[in-house]
Amino acid sequence: MVDPARSLQDAEPLPFWLDDPGRPQAASALVSQTRCDLLVVGGGYSGLWTALVAKERDPSLDVLLIEAQEIGWAASGRNGGFCEASLTHGLGNGYQRWPGELARLERLGSRNLQAIEDAIKRYGIDCDWERTGSVTVATEPYQVEELREFAELAGRFGAELTVLDADAMRAEIDSPTFLGGVWDKDGVAMVNPARLAWGLKQACLDLGVRIHEHTRATGLAGSGAGIAVRTPYGRVLAGRVALATNAFPSLLRRHRPYTVPVYDYALMTEPLTDRQLASIGWRNRQGFADSTNRFHYVRLSADNRILWGGYDVVYHYGARVRAEHDQRPQTFATLARHFFETFPQLADVRFSHSWGGAIDTCTRFSAFFDLSHGGRVAYAAGYTGLGVGATRFGAEVMLDLLAGERTERTALEMVRRKPLPFPPEPIRSAGIGITQWSLARADEQQGRRNLWLRTLDRLGLGFDS
Ligand SMILES: Cc1cc2nc3c(=O)[nH]c(=O)nc-3n(C[C@H](O)[C@H](O)[C@H](O)COP(=O)(O)OP(=O)(O)OC[C@H]3O[C@@H](n4cnc5c(N)ncnc54)[C@H](O)[C@@H]3O)c2cc1C
Repeated sequence: MVDPARSLQDAEPLPFWLDDPGRPQAASALVSQTRCDLLVVGGGYSGLWTALVAKERDPSLDVLLIEAQEIGWAASGRNGGFCEASLTHGLGNGYQRWPGELARLERLGSRNLQAIEDAIKRYGIDCDWERTGSVTVATEPYQVEELREFAELAGRFGAELTVLDADAMRAEIDSPTFLGGVWDKDGVAMVNPARLAWGLKQACLDLGVRIHEHTRATGLAGSGAGIAVRTPYGRVLAGRVALATNAFPSLLRRHRPYTVPVYDYALMTEPLTDRQLASIGWRNRQGFADSTNRFHYVRLSADNRILWGGYDVVYHYGARVRAEHDQRPQTFATLARHFFETFPQLADVRFSHSWGGAIDTCTRFSAFFDLSHGGRVAYAAGYTGLGVGATRFGAEVMLDLLAGERTERTALEMVRRKPLPFPPEPIRSAGIGITQWSLARADEQQGRRNLWLRTLDRLGLGFDS
């Protein structure tokens, strides 16, 4: 029997992807007053795509991006690297909320994923992009039928998913806990997340975007025909502003009730030897996730490590985002235990990195948008753990909104309507606590949802990562 603690004893307490000698030098901070046509606040994917696409649309636009710490240090540089076509946090969630426009959302999502792949090629971004797809795995008998139904639903929206029975599943990735799966071969790519962020930064610079790191926006106010944004050592007078601050407190208070930061955790193993890799198969290198409410997401890195993340989702009272939340030994021990239960063949494998990060969860699990200050400030957030791909779409929406254009994107109900906000503390913590308890119970009881979850479902409310 493997001791999970021993497997973690040499794990570096930092995100594997950011522990990379290719990490670029940070740009210097803004220390003066400056003007620009478009100011982007936040240097994760959301801000980077906004700046890049703005320049692609109009090369003459003067675009400035400011980032409080370093480009890609937050969720964008520490995620699982599942880049999905879905704009709605999965087809099931989209079907529940926007059945009438889901076909359009799916089409726009596929186009968005292709646009990411095209941009990676166009700008020569070295980010281990692998269009291998992802398998949703059944680990309980009741999930086998659910997955079959899911594949049928996806088929109605034009996605051709491959249903795998237990043997076919284990021929792909061999675990004694796997009972079947559904493989989306086309709608998901694996990517090295930090390298994608750094590559987008370079592409922005190459197109003439000005970037200042270590430059936190501390306040925002209308100023004449523009918007004035304060920073610790400077000030920006911008024609338009795009706020891409994700799980961090929005500069505008009115946005804050719509998201809560929840912490999601991951482990990375050492590189597997050829023998270890052969013991689990996995020749097609697809990602996979199990289908419980508290799911794991799992994938290979370019150098054949296994990233093993998810399961626990932790909310801290008062919606706090703090560096000390990035490490959570009890979660790492649980994750390690689950890893060895899934892959007993890998009993001699050790973990090299352990980390966590904040996700901007909203009650409907997919991005929402806002415009303020007479249409001069746009905001997007709420990607809820599925923003690697969807942030590019969100960037396009923010730019459409700032341009005052009515497009196919801005006409979407998903774009026009906001989710229900979270209640204030202490009701918020209590509600999230009951919901998490109920989701765990449902996982133990063949997926049966209790009265609390069914009521939330009816109200269009939920909690996920
Ligand atoms: C552990 C983990 C695993 C995940 N796995 C996946 C996955 O496999 N697939 C998937 O699709 N999604 C995943 N996600 C979610 C995904 O990473 C995010 O949805 C996405 O990165 C969001 O990008 P962003 O630019 O909105 O946010 P971020 O990357 O968080 O960037 C926001 C930036 O804004 C900056 N900022 C905040 N406030 C200010 C301010 N006042 N002034 C200046 N700058 C400011 C921050 O410093 C930060 O750099 C995961 C997230 C985590 C944490």
